[in-house]
Amino acid sequence: MKLILLGKPGAGKGTQAKKIADYYNIPHISTGEMFRQAYAGKTELGVLAHDKYWGKGHLVPDDITLKLVEERLAKGDCKKGFILDGFPRTLVQAKALDKNNTIDHVLYIETPDSLCIQRIAGRRNCSQCAKDYNIYFNPPKKDTLCDTCNQQLVQRPDDKEDIVKQRIIVYENQTQPLIAYYQNNIVTVTDNGNDSPDKLFQKIKKALGK
Ligand code: AMP
Repeated sequence: MKLILLGKPGAGKGTQAKKIADYYNIPHISTGEMFRQAYAGKTELGVLAHDKYWGKGHLVPDDITLKLVEERLAKGDCKKGFILDGFPRTLVQAKALDKNNTIDHVLYIETPDSLCIQRIAGRRNCSQCAKDYNIYFNPPKKDTLCDTCNQQLVQRPDDKEDIVKQRIIVYENQTQPLIAYYQNNIVTVTDNGNDSPDKLFQKIKKALGK
């Protein structure tokens, strides 16, 4: 199964993408995570993408992003399908993806802005094992330390308030138009904040008809 996951920053795409990937046994491909890992590994591309683009709330240019995704999709584990989280983010990316792939479902997680902003403000992850927390909705048991490995939890550099504002503008201008682009193929699931991540996942499975 080939899936695209769309939603605003803070919509909970990463959380649901992991559940979908586990359930359908397909790789979870997060371009944001690829950029963060490249930055953590101090590769030339990783540092450039952070310093000039994502660290400032801007999109990484299409040519760089497309090359990264094409290389990833060419790997053997993608033959059985994949879930794309955070890609495509522009019409250019969507059209390039369509050229070589038939996408089964485009899943759009619709969320109110206020919930996204609150989720981003509370989002933390472990500097060691990358486990996700939210200091409001899913806090660690002890201070700011990971329950599993006792390491410090950190905030993504682009989750700081001024950068988030920029990311929302970019989403509205460049990514929101994809909802109209995929209108014949889109499945919408609304998350109003009342459902647990597991309950929302049940809704997603039902919406996908599996
Ligand atoms: P995410 O983890 O999906 O929120 O992505 C974090 C940041 O990485 C985004 O705010 C962008 O700056 C950059 N990024 C991730 N995916 C893409 C993409 N498909 N195109 C351009 N930039 C991206």
